[in-house]
Amino acid sequence: MTVELICVGTELLLGNIVNTNAAYLAEKCAGLGLSCYFQSVVGDNEERLAQTIRTALDRSDIVILSGGLGPTEDDLTKETAAKVCGRTLEMHEPSRQALERYFTDRGLTLTDNNWKQAMIPQGAIVLDNHNGTAPGVILETEQAKVILLPGPPNELYPMFEESVVPYLEGLTSQVICSQTVKICGVGESRVETQIQDLIDAQTNPTMATYAKTGEVHIRVTAAAESRKAAMKLIKPLVKELKARFGNDIYSTEEETTLEKAVADLLQANDLTVTCAESCTGGMLSARLVNVPGVSQVYKAGLVTYSNKAKRKILNVKKSTLHKHGAVSPKTAEEMAKGAAVFAKADVAVAVTGIAGPGGGTEEKPVGLVYIACNVKGEITVKKYRFSGNRGKIRESAAAAALTLMRSCILEYFSKVTFGK
Ligand code: ATP
Repeated sequence: MTVELICVGTELLLGNIVNTNAAYLAEKCAGLGLSCYFQSVVGDNEERLAQTIRTALDRSDIVILSGGLGPTEDDLTKETAAKVCGRTLEMHEPSRQALERYFTDRGLTLTDNNWKQAMIPQGAIVLDNHNGTAPGVILETEQAKVILLPGPPNELYPMFEESVVPYLEGLTSQVICSQTVKICGVGESRVETQIQDLIDAQTNPTMATYAKTGEVHIRVTAAAESRKAAMKLIKPLVKELKARFGNDIYSTEEETTLEKAVADLLQANDLTVTCAESCTGGMLSARLVNVPGVSQVYKAGLVTYSNKAKRKILNVKKSTLHKHGAVSPKTAEEMAKGAAVFAKADVAVAVTGIAGPGGGTEEKPVGLVYIACNVKGEITVKKYRFSGNRGKIRESAAAAALTLMRSCILEYFSKVTFGK
């Protein structure tokens, strides 16, 4: 089945907001085995919206619209979709009551235009909104299923998970399952090259790669008559990916993030950790602290931005800073050494680099970052050249620090296990 996305809002067209709903919906639909060939953004204009919906109905089995379900004049998605599908709007009593409850519970006054949110196209399926006032709507026509969802992501995401996923799954007798293989420290093009033969040969299961900062995810999706049968199709492909990428795979679990994989690894090996950060300014610590229960392993985070802080807190030698500079392998190494001592931690990771936009030289350009990882006194230092703006460079450095930490710990224990 094919799905088409239409995101409604002049703010989107003007670039005032980023179309994260499209990214979310496209990824979710792919995971459900739906093929998405078209996505559109259209402003709050009835004529152009109607035209876009008509085109979508002609060429796609499912049309998902986001935004424009609110109470104001320019929210016209429901009205336009109903008109295109030849339905009239009528007051939906349960939605009217839910709306009334929503306002009474919060001590708010309902204004006249609010009632418009309880007007539902005739014969439509209504999707409850537990996080806002606009219900979602599914219109089933001969041509296609039309699904209307509210714009705010905190309303759209739960509505999609709770109501739309079961609905879409019910449209086919087939069960779609997927598993994601998560790889860190390998670039997307290298990942794609290594699996090109598998991509070329794919039918069922299919494979898709997604590049994230410092990571690449490969989603393997299969369709079968049952979940068990679909998982059976997925298993050999995941096994093949494990053979090809080995330790670069940090997880095949949907919920596991890179920081969670690192925290689990620390915990499994009874290791405590500390971070000494310069250019990342606490981002690495923040990612680790994202993980619930990290207090078992995380001891301290140090943002040592100035040379003085590096000297006073981490004991980086004045001569090192003078001779090699703050962004150097030697400084990174001494930071990782000093942090382990300061926090009395088994593992210490240090990051120092030039995030830009200023401060770069020919010898030390913007994006140059050194990361050191100290595992029980064994220190590894790596040099990186990241690209992008200041934010991107800092995010890339934090992701690389997690990846380095993970590989150093694995390396340390493989040596311990097999003898040096
Ligand atoms: P409301 O009831 O809040 O008016 P709505 O369904 O009418 O909801 P819009 O008015 O179109 O939605 O958008 C409300 C807000 O939702 C936007 O200001 C924006 O913050 C967010 N939003 C809307 N569409 C998108 C999108 N495609 N991607 C990300 N965020 C979006």
